[in-house]
Amino acid sequence: RAKTLGRSTCVGFTQAMNHDTQQRVELETQLRGAAAAGQLQLLYQPKVSLATGAIVGCEALLRWHHPVLGPVSPARFIPVAEDSGLIVPISDWVLRTACLQARAWADAGLPRTTVAVNISARQLLQQDLAGWTLDMLQETGLAPGLLELELTESLIAQDVEKMIDTFERLKEVGVRLSIDDFGTGYSSLSYLKHFRVDTLKIDQSFVRNMLTQREDETIVRAVIALAHNLQFEVIAEGVETAAHCALLRAHGCDEIQGYYFSPPVPAAEFEALLRGGRHLPLEAGATAP
Ligand code: C2E
Ligand code: MG
Ligand code: MG
Ligand code: MG
Repeated sequence: RAKTLGRSTCVGFTQAMNHDTQQRVELETQLRGAAAAGQLQLLYQPKVSLATGAIVGCEALLRWHHPVLGPVSPARFIPVAEDSGLIVPISDWVLRTACLQARAWADAGLPRTTVAVNISARQLLQQDLAGWTLDMLQETGLAPGLLELELTESLIAQDVEKMIDTFERLKEVGVRLSIDDFGTGYSSLSYLKHFRVDTLKIDQSFVRNMLTQREDETIVRAVIALAHNLQFEVIAEGVETAAHCALLRAHGCDEIQGYYFSPPVPAAEFEALLRGGRHLPLEAGATAP
């Protein structure tokens, strides 16, 4: 009986694994042609100043419109892209598209907006991040001060010496750097003193529970204080309600990003927000923007 059970469990596992592996292989094959087939798209989510209520920048977020599966989440396909090495051409497409878009907005005389691009861990190990970024700025003609790179703490902690050098080269020309999902990595805080980043992004998990969990509010306040004491700016992500917004403002947070102001939107829609001069309502008692 034990043998039968063991065997059937084993068969089930193998089938499950094959199914999973097969799905990944399929996804990888399809992802390979996605950029050329025009299935990749960048959405842009506004970053808003809590001092002025104005849009000060945006984050570029990747979407894959699969012909059969529909929109596939980056959480699902970025790992596949990393394992297969496809992350290199995809990241190239992302950075080029974001830089060209930011350049077009600047050339059109729209209010100044930075564009942030997410950097993946594997990409960082495989590529010379600084060289790649500087080449792309040159190719696209974007002012370096309009580009921001978002990196996670675990990623930075992988190779501290190499990262210090990378950051120096990027800061030298004025590229902005931010630490994404801050507070969720397991690295030591001491790395912060070695890196001249511009911004800490408070992870959305803390923001989400800030109103109901005292510990999360404490962490949010502590990160804001830490950032300011280190001369960094601080932005909260995942801001979904007026109450989140008011509390973050009361605690001195510099900027917010989240569904409360706007979800990630196509370039034309982001441009319309900029042109329309859309602001976050900052008066007390204000509700939806
Ligand atoms: P992230 O960089 O931390 O991006 C924030 C995520 O939160 C985005 O999910 C965004 O759509 C979502 N979000 C924004 N506002 C809210 C809100 O108010 N509430 C909630 N619940 N969520 C909100 P998305 O677009 O699915 O991206 C997921 C992750 O995939 C990103 O996390 C980033 O790590 C990665 N990613 C996205 N685009 C790229 C890319 O071009 N390259 C790389 N390497 N990674 C990317
Ligand atoms: Mg990000
Ligand atoms: Mg994040
Ligand atoms: Mg995240």
